[in-house]
Amino acid sequence: MADNNVSSAPIKYDHNFAQEFFSTENGRLAQKCMQCGMCAVSCATKDLMDHSPRRLFNLVRAGKKDEVLGSNTMWMCTSCCTCKVRCPRGIPLVDVMHDLKNMAIAQNYVSYPQAAFYQAFWQEVLNRGRAFEGGVMARYYLKRGWGEIKKAFEMKDLGMSMLKHGRLPMVPPRKIKGLKELQQIIEKAQALQRKEAK
Ligand code: SF4
Ligand code: SF4
Repeated sequence: MADNNVSSAPIKYDHNFAQEFFSTENGRLAQKCMQCGMCAVSCATKDLMDHSPRRLFNLVRAGKKDEVLGSNTMWMCTSCCTCKVRCPRGIPLVDVMHDLKNMAIAQNYVSYPQAAFYQAFWQEVLNRGRAFEGGVMARYYLKRGWGEIKKAFEMKDLGMSMLKHGRLPMVPPRKIKGLKELQQIIEKAQALQRKEAK
């Protein structure tokens, strides 16, 4: 699928988007991309992505904000780091993918299930200091709405089997010690990130 997507829909260009992206620390490094394609041929999930990482950088340059932030590419990235270690320009692609996820959420490009899952996981960790599977699932399905909740009921047999084998705990774990401090660290990191994005 990647690199062969040709859409007949009119394309909106947003040159502020390229400027905004390339002004961040990782974006500045991504500007060095020479379109060699090493990341694209190295990526194990490329065939599931709307655009390969190589093509994504080209779309950023062209200011195609909807195509970039509305794509599933960053959500399909597993942060395996293969592209990062092979990129001849030393571009930190994994960090760039994380930045694009943050941009997509901040600008409400969140139609992919993976976006809801990432948010549900993150909110759960922020709340407890660790992930509780039941909490992640509840947050995810509430975010996705009734259609997804119905699908969850279709998987009840699997859920029951996991419960039976102790793979799906019913009782939430205790919150970690030092949760308040962890939340303060995260808050500070987010404030720094916002400052850098300005
Ligand atoms: S490997 Fe690096 S330089 Fe080559 S296309 Fe990918 S990001 Fe660009
Ligand atoms: S880090 Fe992401 S984009 Fe890079 S090779 Fe792995 S899955 Fe693909």
